[in-house]
Amino acid sequence: MISFSIHGVGVSSGIAVGHAQLISNALLEVVHYQLPKYLIDDEIKRFSDAIATVTNDLELIHSSLRNNSPAELSAFIGTHLMMLADKSLSEIPKDIIKNEQCNAEWAIKLQMDEIVNQFEQIEDEYLRERKQDVVQVVERVIKVLLGHPSQLTTDQQTSAQHSERKVILVAHDISPADAIQFKQHQFAAFITDVGGVTSHTAILARSLNIPSIVALQKARDLINDGELIIVDGSQGVVIVNPDKSILTEYKLRQDQWEIEQQKLQRIKLTKAVTLDGASIELFANIEVPEDVAKVKAAGATGIGLYRTEFLFMNRREMPDEEEQYIAYKTVAEDMKGAEVTIRTLDLGADKQMNPDTVVTCANPALGLRAIRLCLSEPQIFHTQLRALLRASHYGNIKILIPMLSTLAELRQTKLMLERAKLSLRKQNIPFNENIALGGMIEVPAAAINAEAFAQELDFLSIGTNDLIQYTLAIDRTDDTVAHLYNPLHPSVLKLILMTIKAGEKLGKSVSVCGEMAGDAKLTKLLIGMGLRQLSMHPSHILSVKQKILQSEMSKLNANARKVLGLTDIEKIEQLVAKYNDI
Ligand code: PEP
Ligand code: MG
Repeated sequence: MISFSIHGVGVSSGIAVGHAQLISNALLEVVHYQLPKYLIDDEIKRFSDAIATVTNDLELIHSSLRNNSPAELSAFIGTHLMMLADKSLSEIPKDIIKNEQCNAEWAIKLQMDEIVNQFEQIEDEYLRERKQDVVQVVERVIKVLLGHPSQLTTDQQTSAQHSERKVILVAHDISPADAIQFKQHQFAAFITDVGGVTSHTAILARSLNIPSIVALQKARDLINDGELIIVDGSQGVVIVNPDKSILTEYKLRQDQWEIEQQKLQRIKLTKAVTLDGASIELFANIEVPEDVAKVKAAGATGIGLYRTEFLFMNRREMPDEEEQYIAYKTVAEDMKGAEVTIRTLDLGADKQMNPDTVVTCANPALGLRAIRLCLSEPQIFHTQLRALLRASHYGNIKILIPMLSTLAELRQTKLMLERAKLSLRKQNIPFNENIALGGMIEVPAAAINAEAFAQELDFLSIGTNDLIQYTLAIDRTDDTVAHLYNPLHPSVLKLILMTIKAGEKLGKSVSVCGEMAGDAKLTKLLIGMGLRQLSMHPSHILSVKQKILQSEMSKLNANARKVLGLTDIEKIEQLVAKYNDI
């Protein structure tokens, strides 16, 4: 077996050794080819066989669902079976194969596009969204036609959980909705062909604390199912079929990495205070209530960012008020009075409710996402605000609004919050009347106008992931421009500083909850710029704390001023690296 290495962008550190499990994104692989007339009947048979196989698979899953499986899962598979039985999917593609003399994959994809198009014209939103089911069913058929094992199925997830072998997922791309499911399963690492450093998929990899690499370009083509691979998340390198000596060397490095992680545990209970006595609060970012255990294990002060959108993913219906209330209340109670900052729904852009959602707007990161989406869907927003307020009675909850760009959005949000409070008062449902309201500063317009926002808010939280994306006009999920995505761009630093100053002037606290907060190489710079609160994935807290314990605030302030005086990225990088080492 030939050994080779592939290079990408490491997004979550650590080393994993395991066997590759390829995940197919069948729709991307469909090619169009013409067939001679004499092969058409065979092609139609190939198509019918694929439909029969998928029907069989789905019926098996349907009958094996246990009584305690969610009812919606059963209904969901039932819908897929119905769609598959419908003439439009099981018969019309045969006509297409015949008339166009084309391959079966192409025929069913053409038909899928046609059906999806018809669904898009439907007024009713629920029915319109059912186009996802069509896409999912067709994807299953195409996978069978292409001879691939199906995507991350329940079976595969369970086998990863029970197998002795470590499984490394190899995919063209993994959506945040897919990645959130990994929290319940034990994959050793995952690697993808595309993606950026601060895409939500990468953020989830860091929260899982498993090595991960994106932007490998052709990993899915070059790696075969079952092959032994090494993933070095720190270096962004994948080694396929390593020989014995390489394997031994990496196992050594893996052990060293684990020893270093364990050493850090010694400072778990130590307060994050600089050598000259400045105290820094280290908060944690979470995606689901189950993450609270990790928050506690890392000794975080509280939760600085709870990304609630993950509660809305991989399901057909939005969670209702009760379900949301229970999730928020559980986190607040588990944190026993420590601060829990819960961000309202930030769906849109790369965070879609379902992995297979076909994004139709031209520029989703600039489109109807986050607070814009919530304000355009007042009922969804009202439900979430009521759930948050109800939960606020049971702990120290603060509300955080994502993606603010105008004061009008903020004022409208405040009106919505008042409306939610009023409805609860009328029902005599208790909540914290003085619940704090904060805003994410993640759009340059908000950073430039931070004083005005600070005046009308209780606190600010800088979302550097989006702030960098929007300041530099670089899609955070696009690997082709990932090399230009730089947190140390002087304009990004200036916007962060403006926000810190606005908070200082108006006496409002400012934190950073983007990925910059968890990068220990940037800790000295950020606190030197005046930040006293950082929120990051629990797995980063100890390495950031270690930096703080070695720092002297008086020096950091002077150093940060020098960095901020520079206009050249390379010079900034050099100076930050130099200060970081002393
Ligand atoms: C950010 O943009 O920095 C942020 C924290 O929000 P998200 O990564 O969820 O967009
Ligand atoms: Mg953001």
